[in-house]
Amino acid sequence: MTYNKKTIEDVEVAGKKILVRCDFNVPVKDGVITSDKRIVEALPTIKYLKSKGAMVILCSHMGKPHNVFDAKIKLNKKEVAAIDALPEAEREAATAAAVEKAKKDVKKFSLKVVADKLNELLGGGVVFASDTVGEDARAKVAAMKPGDIVLLENTRFTALEEKNDPEFSKQLGSLAELFVNDAFGTAHRAHASTAGVAQHAGLPAVCGYLIQKEIGIMGKALSNPERPFVAILGGAKVADKLNVINNLLTKVDTLIIGGGMAYTFLAAKGYGVGGSLLDESKLDYCKDMMKKAEEKGVKLLLPVDTTVAKEFPDPIDAPIDVKIVDSDKIPADMQGLDIGPATMKLYADAVKNAKTVVWNGPMGVFENPTLAKGTIAVAQALADSSATTIVGGGDSAAACEQLGYANRITHISTGGGASLEFLEGLELPGIACLEDK
Ligand code: AMP
Repeated sequence: MTYNKKTIEDVEVAGKKILVRCDFNVPVKDGVITSDKRIVEALPTIKYLKSKGAMVILCSHMGKPHNVFDAKIKLNKKEVAAIDALPEAEREAATAAAVEKAKKDVKKFSLKVVADKLNELLGGGVVFASDTVGEDARAKVAAMKPGDIVLLENTRFTALEEKNDPEFSKQLGSLAELFVNDAFGTAHRAHASTAGVAQHAGLPAVCGYLIQKEIGIMGKALSNPERPFVAILGGAKVADKLNVINNLLTKVDTLIIGGGMAYTFLAAKGYGVGGSLLDESKLDYCKDMMKKAEEKGVKLLLPVDTTVAKEFPDPIDAPIDVKIVDSDKIPADMQGLDIGPATMKLYADAVKNAKTVVWNGPMGVFENPTLAKGTIAVAQALADSSATTIVGGGDSAAACEQLGYANRITHISTGGGASLEFLEGLELPGIACLEDK
Protein backbone atom coordinates (compact mmCIF):
# COMPACT_ATOMS: atom_id res chain seq x y z
CA MET A 1 0.00 0.00 0.00
CA THR A 2 1.51 3.34 -0.95
CA TYR A 3 0.02 6.57 0.31
CA ASN A 4 0.50 10.11 -0.84
CA LYS A 5 -1.36 12.04 1.82
CA LYS A 6 -1.43 15.74 2.58
CA THR A 7 0.67 16.66 5.59
CA ILE A 8 0.62 19.52 8.07
CA GLU A 9 2.96 21.39 5.72
CA ASP A 10 0.38 21.32 2.93
CA VAL A 11 -2.29 23.26 4.83
CA GLU A 12 -2.64 26.64 6.53
CA VAL A 13 -2.32 26.10 10.28
CA ALA A 14 -1.55 29.55 11.72
CA GLY A 15 -4.18 30.80 14.16
CA LYS A 16 -6.30 27.65 13.67
CA LYS A 17 -7.64 25.25 16.25
CA ILE A 18 -6.26 21.87 15.28
CA LEU A 19 -7.30 18.51 16.71
CA VAL A 20 -4.26 16.23 16.67
CA ARG A 21 -4.84 12.50 17.28
CA CYS A 22 -1.62 11.14 18.77
CA ASP A 23 -0.74 7.67 19.97
CA PHE A 24 0.00 8.30 23.64
CA ASN A 25 -0.77 4.67 24.50
CA VAL A 26 2.39 4.38 26.58
CA PRO A 27 3.22 1.73 29.18
CA VAL A 28 2.65 3.05 32.74
CA LYS A 29 3.74 1.23 35.90
CA ASP A 30 2.85 2.55 39.36
CA GLY A 31 2.00 5.94 37.85
CA VAL A 32 5.30 6.25 35.97
CA ILE A 33 5.69 6.07 32.18
CA THR A 34 8.20 3.28 31.48
CA SER A 35 8.79 4.12 27.80
CA ASP A 36 8.10 7.61 26.47
CA LYS A 37 9.05 6.69 22.87
CA ARG A 38 5.57 7.35 21.50
CA ILE A 39 5.37 10.75 23.22
CA VAL A 40 8.82 11.75 22.00
CA GLU A 41 7.88 10.65 18.46
CA ALA A 42 4.83 12.94 18.57
CA LEU A 43 6.88 16.04 19.42
CA PRO A 44 7.92 17.12 15.89
CA THR A 45 4.27 17.61 14.85
CA ILE A 46 3.34 19.37 18.09
CA LYS A 47 6.38 21.67 17.95
CA TYR A 48 5.77 22.54 14.30
CA LEU A 49 2.13 23.45 14.87
CA LYS A 50 2.97 25.48 17.98
CA SER A 51 5.77 27.33 16.19
CA LYS A 52 3.33 28.26 13.41
CA GLY A 53 0.91 29.80 15.92
CA ALA A 54 -1.71 27.06 15.76
CA MET A 55 -3.86 26.12 18.77
CA VAL A 56 -3.02 22.49 19.34
CA ILE A 57 -5.69 20.21 20.82
CA LEU A 58 -4.16 16.81 21.51
CA CYS A 59 -6.13 13.60 22.02
CA SER A 60 -5.32 9.92 22.39
CA HIS A 61 -6.45 6.68 23.95
CA MET A 62 -4.46 4.83 26.60
CA GLY A 63 -5.02 1.19 27.52
CA LYS A 64 -8.43 -0.40 27.85
CA PRO A 65 -10.17 1.52 30.65
CA HIS A 66 -13.70 1.17 31.92
CA ASN A 67 -16.07 3.56 30.21
CA VAL A 68 -16.23 6.27 32.88
CA PHE A 69 -18.01 8.87 30.80
CA ASP A 70 -20.88 6.61 29.87
CA ALA A 71 -24.07 6.39 31.89
CA LYS A 72 -22.73 3.60 34.02
CA ILE A 73 -19.44 1.85 34.54
CA LYS A 74 -19.44 -1.49 32.78
CA LEU A 75 -17.92 -4.10 35.03
CA ASN A 76 -15.78 -6.71 33.35
CA LYS A 77 -16.77 -10.39 33.14
CA LYS A 78 -14.60 -11.40 36.11
CA GLU A 79 -16.12 -8.72 38.33
CA VAL A 80 -19.66 -9.64 37.28
CA ALA A 81 -18.99 -13.34 37.93
CA ALA A 82 -17.66 -12.56 41.42
CA ILE A 83 -20.82 -10.57 42.22
CA ASP A 84 -23.09 -13.29 40.80
CA ALA A 85 -21.43 -15.81 43.10
CA LEU A 86 -22.55 -13.85 46.19
CA PRO A 87 -25.85 -14.41 48.06
CA GLU A 88 -28.55 -12.24 46.48
CA ALA A 89 -28.87 -9.90 49.48
CA GLU A 90 -25.22 -8.88 49.14
CA ARG A 91 -25.18 -8.24 45.40
CA GLU A 92 -26.44 -4.66 45.30
CA ALA A 93 -23.88 -3.39 47.80
CA ALA A 94 -21.14 -5.42 46.09
CA THR A 95 -22.06 -3.92 42.70
CA ALA A 96 -21.94 -0.38 44.12
CA ALA A 97 -18.55 -1.09 45.72
CA ALA A 98 -17.21 -2.60 42.47
CA VAL A 99 -18.35 0.46 40.50
CA GLU A 100 -16.68 2.81 42.99
CA LYS A 101 -13.50 0.76 42.80
CA ALA A 102 -13.64 0.76 38.99
CA LYS A 103 -13.95 4.56 39.04
CA LYS A 104 -10.79 4.74 41.12
CA ASP A 105 -8.97 2.14 38.96
CA VAL A 106 -9.78 4.16 35.91
CA LYS A 107 -7.49 6.93 37.14
CA LYS A 108 -4.65 4.59 36.07
CA PHE A 109 -5.68 5.31 32.51
CA SER A 110 -5.88 9.08 32.83
CA LEU A 111 -3.73 10.97 30.34
CA LYS A 112 -2.71 13.38 33.14
CA VAL A 113 0.57 11.44 33.36
CA VAL A 114 1.11 12.15 29.63
CA ALA A 115 0.34 15.87 30.15
CA ASP A 116 3.03 15.95 32.86
CA LYS A 117 5.52 14.21 30.55
CA LEU A 118 4.70 16.59 27.68
CA ASN A 119 5.23 19.56 30.00
CA GLU A 120 8.59 18.10 30.98
CA LEU A 121 9.63 17.52 27.35
CA LEU A 122 8.28 20.84 26.02
CA GLY A 123 9.28 22.99 28.98
CA GLY A 124 5.69 23.61 30.08
CA GLY A 125 2.62 25.12 28.43
CA VAL A 126 0.45 22.00 28.15
CA VAL A 127 -2.99 22.34 29.78
CA PHE A 128 -4.84 19.14 30.70
CA ALA A 129 -8.63 18.83 30.31
CA SER A 130 -10.31 16.43 32.72
CA ASP A 131 -12.75 15.21 30.06
CA THR A 132 -12.67 14.59 26.31
CA VAL A 133 -15.58 16.55 24.84
CA GLY A 134 -17.27 17.70 28.06
CA GLU A 135 -17.50 21.02 29.85
CA ASP A 136 -13.88 21.19 30.94
CA ALA A 137 -12.54 20.33 27.47
CA ARG A 138 -14.79 22.90 25.79
CA ALA A 139 -13.92 25.64 28.30
CA LYS A 140 -10.18 25.02 28.02
CA VAL A 141 -10.32 24.91 24.22
CA ALA A 142 -12.42 28.11 24.11
CA ALA A 143 -9.75 29.92 26.14
CA MET A 144 -6.88 28.92 23.81
CA LYS A 145 -4.63 31.46 22.12
CA PRO A 146 -2.19 30.84 19.24
CA GLY A 147 0.65 28.56 20.37
CA ASP A 148 -1.39 27.05 23.25
CA ILE A 149 -1.61 23.30 23.76
CA VAL A 150 -4.49 21.42 25.42
CA LEU A 151 -4.46 17.65 26.01
CA LEU A 152 -7.91 16.05 26.26
CA GLU A 153 -8.66 13.13 28.59
CA ASN A 154 -8.47 9.50 27.32
CA THR A 155 -10.74 9.02 24.28
CA ARG A 156 -11.54 5.49 25.49
CA PHE A 157 -13.24 6.76 28.64
CA THR A 158 -16.35 6.30 26.54
CA ALA A 159 -17.25 3.12 24.68
CA LEU A 160 -18.27 5.34 21.75
CA GLU A 161 -14.60 5.62 20.76
CA GLU A 162 -14.08 1.98 19.79
CA LYS A 163 -17.61 1.81 18.37
CA ASN A 164 -16.54 4.53 15.93
CA ASP A 165 -19.65 6.47 16.87
CA PRO A 166 -20.28 9.33 14.36
CA GLU A 167 -21.80 11.62 17.02
CA PHE A 168 -18.72 11.31 19.23
CA SER A 169 -16.54 12.01 16.17
CA LYS A 170 -18.59 15.15 15.46
CA GLN A 171 -18.28 16.33 19.07
CA LEU A 172 -14.51 15.90 18.94
CA GLY A 173 -14.32 17.58 15.55
CA SER A 174 -16.47 20.52 16.73
CA LEU A 175 -13.58 21.61 18.95
CA ALA A 176 -11.38 22.32 15.92
CA GLU A 177 -11.07 23.62 12.35
CA LEU A 178 -8.60 21.01 11.08
CA PHE A 179 -7.86 17.38 11.94
CA VAL A 180 -4.35 15.94 12.01
CA ASN A 181 -3.86 12.23 12.48
CA ASP A 182 -0.42 11.33 13.81
CA ALA A 183 -1.34 8.13 15.65
CA PHE A 184 0.39 5.45 13.61
CA GLY A 185 0.01 2.86 16.40
CA THR A 186 -3.80 2.96 16.00
CA ALA A 187 -3.90 3.57 12.25
CA HIS A 188 -5.11 -0.01 11.61
CA ARG A 189 -8.29 0.60 13.61
CA ALA A 190 -11.24 2.76 12.53
CA HIS A 191 -12.23 4.47 15.78
CA ALA A 192 -14.19 7.65 16.47
CA SER A 193 -11.10 9.78 17.18
CA THR A 194 -9.18 8.46 14.15
CA ALA A 195 -10.98 7.59 10.92
CA GLY A 196 -14.31 8.73 12.42
CA VAL A 197 -13.32 12.39 12.81
CA ALA A 198 -11.96 12.47 9.27
CA GLN A 199 -15.19 10.96 7.92
CA HIS A 200 -17.90 12.59 10.00
CA ALA A 201 -16.68 15.91 11.42
CA GLY A 202 -16.50 17.78 8.12
CA LEU A 203 -12.96 18.99 8.76
CA PRO A 204 -9.99 18.91 6.40
CA ALA A 205 -7.89 15.92 7.52
CA VAL A 206 -4.13 15.52 7.00
CA CYS A 207 -1.30 13.50 8.52
CA GLY A 208 1.39 14.57 10.96
CA TYR A 209 5.13 14.00 10.74
CA LEU A 210 5.10 10.63 12.52
CA ILE A 211 2.60 8.99 10.19
CA GLN A 212 4.43 10.61 7.27
CA LYS A 213 7.71 9.09 8.50
CA GLU A 214 6.26 5.63 9.24
CA ILE A 215 4.54 5.22 5.89
CA GLY A 216 7.41 6.87 4.05
CA ILE A 217 10.10 4.52 5.34
CA MET A 218 8.02 1.34 5.32
CA GLY A 219 6.33 2.23 2.05
CA LYS A 220 9.68 2.73 0.32
CA ALA A 221 11.04 -0.52 1.73
CA LEU A 222 8.09 -2.42 0.36
CA SER A 223 7.61 -0.70 -2.97
CA ASN A 224 11.15 0.13 -4.00
CA PRO A 225 13.64 -1.61 -1.71
CA GLU A 226 17.37 -1.54 -2.09
CA ARG A 227 18.28 -5.18 -2.67
CA PRO A 228 18.96 -7.73 -1.35
CA PHE A 229 15.77 -7.27 0.69
CA VAL A 230 15.51 -9.59 3.68
CA ALA A 231 12.44 -9.98 5.90
CA ILE A 232 12.59 -11.76 9.24
CA LEU A 233 9.37 -12.97 10.82
CA GLY A 234 8.96 -14.53 14.24
CA GLY A 235 6.40 -14.77 16.99
CA ALA A 236 4.14 -17.46 18.25
CA LYS A 237 1.68 -18.43 15.55
CA VAL A 238 1.75 -18.93 11.80
CA ALA A 239 -1.97 -18.12 11.69
CA ASP A 240 -1.26 -14.51 12.77
CA LYS A 241 1.23 -13.99 9.96
CA LEU A 242 -0.40 -15.80 7.00
CA ASN A 243 -1.01 -12.71 4.92
CA VAL A 244 2.30 -11.11 5.81
CA ILE A 245 4.19 -14.17 4.59
CA ASN A 246 2.14 -14.27 1.41
CA ASN A 247 2.65 -10.57 0.69
CA LEU A 248 6.34 -10.48 1.58
CA LEU A 249 7.07 -13.44 -0.72
CA THR A 250 6.16 -11.18 -3.64
CA LYS A 251 8.65 -8.53 -2.49
CA VAL A 252 11.70 -9.95 -0.75
CA ASP A 253 14.83 -11.81 -1.85
CA THR A 254 15.08 -13.76 1.39
CA LEU A 255 12.37 -14.59 3.92
CA ILE A 256 13.57 -15.77 7.30
CA ILE A 257 11.23 -17.56 9.68
CA GLY A 258 11.87 -18.04 13.40
CA GLY A 259 9.92 -18.28 16.64
CA GLY A 260 7.05 -20.64 17.35
CA MET A 261 5.71 -20.29 13.81
CA ALA A 262 8.81 -22.01 12.37
CA TYR A 263 7.72 -25.43 13.65
CA THR A 264 4.65 -25.64 11.44
CA PHE A 265 7.02 -25.04 8.49
CA LEU A 266 9.44 -27.70 9.79
CA ALA A 267 6.54 -30.14 10.22
CA ALA A 268 5.41 -29.30 6.67
CA LYS A 269 8.87 -30.42 5.52
CA GLY A 270 8.14 -33.74 7.19
CA TYR A 271 10.22 -33.24 10.34
CA GLY A 272 8.99 -34.38 13.76
CA VAL A 273 8.70 -31.32 16.00
CA GLY A 274 8.01 -33.00 19.37
CA GLY A 275 5.90 -30.82 21.64
CA SER A 276 6.74 -27.57 19.81
CA LEU A 277 4.02 -25.13 18.81
CA LEU A 278 2.32 -26.65 15.78
CA ASP A 279 -0.74 -25.60 13.82
CA GLU A 280 -1.77 -28.70 11.89
CA SER A 281 -4.47 -26.77 10.03
CA LYS A 282 -1.74 -24.63 8.44
CA LEU A 283 0.54 -27.43 7.18
CA ASP A 284 -0.79 -27.15 3.62
CA TYR A 285 -0.47 -23.38 3.77
CA CYS A 286 3.20 -23.71 4.77
CA LYS A 287 3.77 -26.19 1.93
CA ASP A 288 2.18 -23.71 -0.49
CA MET A 289 4.39 -20.91 0.80
CA MET A 290 7.54 -23.04 0.41
CA LYS A 291 6.46 -23.82 -3.15
CA LYS A 292 5.68 -20.18 -3.86
CA ALA A 293 9.11 -19.16 -2.53
CA GLU A 294 10.78 -21.67 -4.83
CA GLU A 295 8.78 -20.52 -7.86
CA LYS A 296 9.61 -16.90 -7.17
CA GLY A 297 13.28 -17.58 -6.50
CA VAL A 298 12.93 -16.32 -2.92
CA LYS A 299 15.26 -17.93 -0.38
CA LEU A 300 13.13 -19.17 2.51
CA LEU A 301 15.31 -19.79 5.55
CA LEU A 302 14.10 -22.00 8.39
CA PRO A 303 15.95 -22.90 11.61
CA VAL A 304 18.66 -25.52 10.96
CA ASP A 305 19.08 -26.10 14.67
CA THR A 306 16.83 -25.57 17.64
CA THR A 307 17.08 -24.93 21.37
CA VAL A 308 14.82 -27.49 23.00
CA ALA A 309 13.59 -28.17 26.54
CA LYS A 310 11.36 -30.73 28.24
CA GLU A 311 8.76 -28.18 29.33
CA PHE A 312 7.69 -24.62 28.60
CA PRO A 313 9.22 -22.49 31.41
CA ASP A 314 6.79 -21.71 34.24
CA PRO A 315 6.93 -18.91 35.22
CA ILE A 316 8.12 -17.79 31.83
CA ASP A 317 11.46 -16.47 33.12
CA ALA A 318 12.22 -19.49 35.34
CA PRO A 319 15.66 -21.15 35.02
CA ILE A 320 15.47 -23.88 32.37
CA ASP A 321 17.65 -26.77 31.15
CA VAL A 322 18.04 -26.74 27.38
CA LYS A 323 19.93 -28.54 24.68
CA ILE A 324 20.69 -27.83 21.05
CA VAL A 325 19.56 -30.28 18.37
CA ASP A 326 19.40 -30.25 14.59
CA SER A 327 15.93 -29.12 13.49
CA ASP A 328 15.17 -32.54 11.94
CA LYS A 329 16.03 -34.27 15.22
CA ILE A 330 13.76 -32.61 17.76
CA PRO A 331 13.07 -35.37 20.33
CA ALA A 332 9.42 -36.40 20.61
CA ASP A 333 9.33 -35.51 24.32
CA MET A 334 10.88 -32.05 23.90
CA GLN A 335 9.83 -28.72 22.41
CA GLY A 336 11.62 -26.05 20.43
CA LEU A 337 11.76 -22.74 22.29
CA ASP A 338 14.45 -20.78 20.44
CA ILE A 339 16.61 -20.99 17.34
CA GLY A 340 20.03 -22.63 17.83
CA PRO A 341 23.53 -21.14 17.35
CA ALA A 342 24.01 -22.38 13.75
CA THR A 343 20.69 -20.73 12.82
CA MET A 344 21.71 -17.51 14.56
CA LYS A 345 24.81 -17.43 12.36
CA LEU A 346 22.84 -18.32 9.21
CA TYR A 347 20.33 -15.52 9.86
CA ALA A 348 23.04 -12.99 10.84
CA ASP A 349 24.92 -13.77 7.60
CA ALA A 350 21.76 -13.15 5.56
CA VAL A 351 21.34 -9.79 7.31
CA LYS A 352 25.02 -8.95 6.71
CA ASN A 353 24.56 -9.21 2.95
CA ALA A 354 21.26 -7.32 2.85
CA LYS A 355 20.61 -3.70 1.84
CA THR A 356 17.10 -3.61 3.34
CA VAL A 357 15.93 -5.59 6.36
CA VAL A 358 12.47 -5.73 7.91
CA TRP A 359 12.02 -7.59 11.22
CA ASN A 360 8.83 -8.42 13.09
CA GLY A 361 8.51 -10.93 15.94
CA PRO A 362 10.86 -12.70 18.36
CA MET A 363 12.90 -15.80 17.42
CA GLY A 364 12.06 -17.65 20.63
CA VAL A 365 10.60 -17.30 24.10
CA PHE A 366 12.67 -14.18 24.62
CA GLU A 367 11.02 -13.40 27.97
CA ASN A 368 13.33 -16.11 29.38
CA PRO A 369 17.05 -15.14 29.44
CA THR A 370 18.13 -18.67 28.36
CA LEU A 371 15.73 -18.57 25.40
CA ALA A 372 16.37 -14.95 24.37
CA LYS A 373 19.63 -15.66 22.57
CA GLY A 374 18.13 -16.02 19.10
CA THR A 375 16.17 -12.78 19.40
CA ILE A 376 19.25 -10.97 20.75
CA ALA A 377 21.37 -12.37 17.87
CA VAL A 378 18.91 -10.99 15.30
CA ALA A 379 18.74 -7.60 17.06
CA GLN A 380 22.56 -7.56 17.13
CA ALA A 381 22.76 -8.43 13.41
CA LEU A 382 20.43 -5.55 12.55
CA ALA A 383 22.34 -3.15 14.80
CA ASP A 384 25.65 -4.15 13.15
CA SER A 385 24.24 -3.87 9.62
CA SER A 386 24.72 -0.91 7.34
CA ALA A 387 21.44 -1.76 5.54
CA THR A 388 18.19 0.14 5.97
CA THR A 389 16.81 -1.69 8.99
CA ILE A 390 13.16 -1.52 9.98
CA VAL A 391 11.76 -3.11 13.10
CA GLY A 392 8.01 -3.56 13.49
CA GLY A 393 6.66 -2.54 16.88
CA GLY A 394 5.86 -4.83 19.78
CA ASP A 395 8.29 -7.42 21.08
CA SER A 396 11.06 -6.95 18.52
CA ALA A 397 11.04 -3.18 19.05
CA ALA A 398 11.17 -3.67 22.82
CA ALA A 399 14.09 -6.12 22.40
CA CYS A 400 16.10 -3.57 20.37
CA GLU A 401 15.36 -0.84 22.90
CA GLN A 402 16.18 -2.96 25.95
CA LEU A 403 19.48 -4.01 24.39
CA GLY A 404 20.38 -0.39 23.74
CA TYR A 405 20.43 -0.87 19.94
CA ALA A 406 17.61 1.56 19.15
CA ASN A 407 19.85 4.27 17.72
CA ARG A 408 21.60 1.72 15.47
CA ILE A 409 18.35 0.73 13.72
CA THR A 410 17.13 2.93 10.85
CA HIS A 411 13.51 2.88 11.96
CA ILE A 412 11.70 1.33 14.90
CA SER A 413 8.00 1.57 14.25
CA THR A 414 5.68 2.93 16.95
CA GLY A 415 2.99 0.53 15.73
CA GLY A 416 2.99 -3.24 16.36
CA GLY A 417 -0.33 -4.26 14.82
CA ALA A 418 -0.30 -1.29 12.43
CA SER A 419 3.16 -2.11 11.05
CA LEU A 420 2.18 -5.75 10.59
CA GLU A 421 -0.97 -4.80 8.68
CA PHE A 422 1.12 -2.42 6.59
CA LEU A 423 3.50 -5.29 5.75
CA GLU A 424 0.47 -7.39 4.84
CA GLY A 425 -0.35 -4.78 2.23
CA LEU A 426 -3.63 -3.91 3.95
CA GLU A 427 -5.16 -0.48 3.84
CA LEU A 428 -4.88 1.32 7.20
CA PRO A 429 -8.24 3.07 7.85
CA GLY A 430 -6.63 5.81 9.99
CA ILE A 431 -4.51 6.82 7.00
CA ALA A 432 -6.80 5.99 4.10
CA CYS A 433 -9.32 8.57 5.45
CA LEU A 434 -6.87 11.49 5.10
CA GLU A 435 -6.79 13.83 2.12
CA ASP A 436 -4.62 12.90 -0.84
CA LYS A 437 -2.04 15.38 -2.10
P1 AMP B 1 3.55 -12.81 18.77
O1 AMP B 1 2.59 -12.30 19.81
O2 AMP B 1 2.95 -13.68 17.75
O3 AMP B 1 4.43 -11.73 18.21
O4 AMP B 1 4.51 -13.78 19.55
C1 AMP B 1 5.30 -13.37 20.62
C2 AMP B 1 5.39 -14.52 21.58
O5 AMP B 1 5.85 -15.67 20.92
C3 AMP B 1 6.35 -14.25 22.70
O6 AMP B 1 5.63 -14.15 23.90
C4 AMP B 1 7.26 -15.49 22.70
O7 AMP B 1 7.49 -16.01 23.98
C5 AMP B 1 6.46 -16.48 21.87
N1 AMP B 1 7.31 -17.49 21.22
C6 AMP B 1 8.34 -17.27 20.40
N2 AMP B 1 8.91 -18.43 20.05
C7 AMP B 1 8.23 -19.42 20.65
C8 AMP B 1 8.36 -20.83 20.68
N3 AMP B 1 9.32 -21.46 20.00
N4 AMP B 1 7.47 -21.53 21.42
C9 AMP B 1 6.50 -20.89 22.10
N5 AMP B 1 6.33 -19.55 22.12
C10 AMP B 1 7.19 -18.82 21.40
